[in-house]
Amino acid sequence: MNTVTRRGFAAAGAVAPLATVARANSKLALLGGQPVRKEPFPSWPRIGPEDERAWMDVLRGGKWYRGSGAAVSRFEKGYARLLGAPHCLATANGTSALYTALNALGVGPGDEVIVPPYTFVATINVVLLNYALPVFVDTDLETFQIDATKVEAAVTDRTRAVIPVHIGGSPANLDAILPLARRRKLPVIEDACQAHLGEWRGRKLGTLGDAGCFSFQASKNLNSGEGGALMTGDEDLLERAYGFHNNGRGARTGSLDFSYRMGGANLRMTEFQAALLMAQMTRLEEQARRRDDNAAHLTKLLNEIPGIRPARLHDGCTRGAWHLYMFRYDPEAFAGVPRDRFLKALAAEGVRGSGGYRPLNREPFILNAVHSKAYRALYPARLLEQWEERNHCPVNDRLCREAIWFTQTMLLGARGDIEQIAEAIRKIQLQAGELRKL
Ligand SMILES: *Cc1c(COP(=O)(O)O)cnc(C)c1O
Repeated sequence: MNTVTRRGFAAAGAVAPLATVARANSKLALLGGQPVRKEPFPSWPRIGPEDERAWMDVLRGGKWYRGSGAAVSRFEKGYARLLGAPHCLATANGTSALYTALNALGVGPGDEVIVPPYTFVATINVVLLNYALPVFVDTDLETFQIDATKVEAAVTDRTRAVIPVHIGGSPANLDAILPLARRRKLPVIEDACQAHLGEWRGRKLGTLGDAGCFSFQASKNLNSGEGGALMTGDEDLLERAYGFHNNGRGARTGSLDFSYRMGGANLRMTEFQAALLMAQMTRLEEQARRRDDNAAHLTKLLNEIPGIRPARLHDGCTRGAWHLYMFRYDPEAFAGVPRDRFLKALAAEGVRGSGGYRPLNREPFILNAVHSKAYRALYPARLLEQWEERNHCPVNDRLCREAIWFTQTMLLGARGDIEQIAEAIRKIQLQAGELRKL
């Protein structure tokens, strides 16, 4: 599906039913009026008898660790099949999948890793954990994704990997990033932690780079409380990743074999997580389809509202995963009402949104890490002095001021939910003057 068609729909125009108009003119809920919506959005997680059975089978079986049970291996095969990937390594969480990928690729002290600033902090934390230097490439304002046209200029002799993040579950521009990385011989780790069943030209996100990492943390579109996976088509990488995540013990070693092929950590998934994921996974396709349909409808409705600009999908996107529904808010179209007050008014109408991420490249803890004793011992002083200047991301700064998100569960309900979201925004716009006086 592409945005051009969606905009075409929007241009055809829609006339709001009379009941909707009446409600839009009623007093704002923040000022004591009736909210547009009183019911909660769909709850998360969803559970059924399959989940209970899967969980209890592991509990009663007494084999709770992947070395003795079969659930983790079964999940790895099942998730790889679902994504059309050659191999999957299950991990404790998404952070450890990324951490394992960097270690399996040998990224470490003295290396630079190209990252976007518009992401969850774990993408950067794993780089710092390896004493590598994160190099931020600015964001594209329209798509919210890493600006692929600016990646090449950030590559230096020290660059050892690129981590495009499919933020919100919408794809980064892989048509630009993959060939560039191949040309510069740089491995690509897709951070697909928000992108379950999202697609780029018909292929699943997380299967197009050298490695792709997923999270199954509680908020994610596939959920086992905590959990993660590393996808790859490279058998050597898989072996190194397995070893690293298993305290350096190789894939074929039995539990009483204390030989080590490398250093590592224990980043293994439990049998409980894997069994739950197998049950949750049976609903993933249906949920993904529903989110994608509802997101398309929401985009059509929001495109009709001046000052609301849904994130554009890159042309290569054949399906968004919609972990987040992201758009920009322009106060000018809302009588100058700042974003925070708009969000308060929206929440009062029964539609809770978030202002999203803050600029990570300006985050004090990252600046401190880059100027820490360890980094000063590992990198030339000039390189570290220039870090801030080199990592300016003015577009991302602006995006962080303008962005608003809805979460994936708000897209899991009926069409009526989507219409109420748009109605609440229209109601606030009509009466924005009242809000400005507050
Ligand atoms: C959730 C997330 C992670 C980390 O995954 P955890 O399972 O929480 O460790 C990494 N990157 C992105 C973009 C995420 O959304």
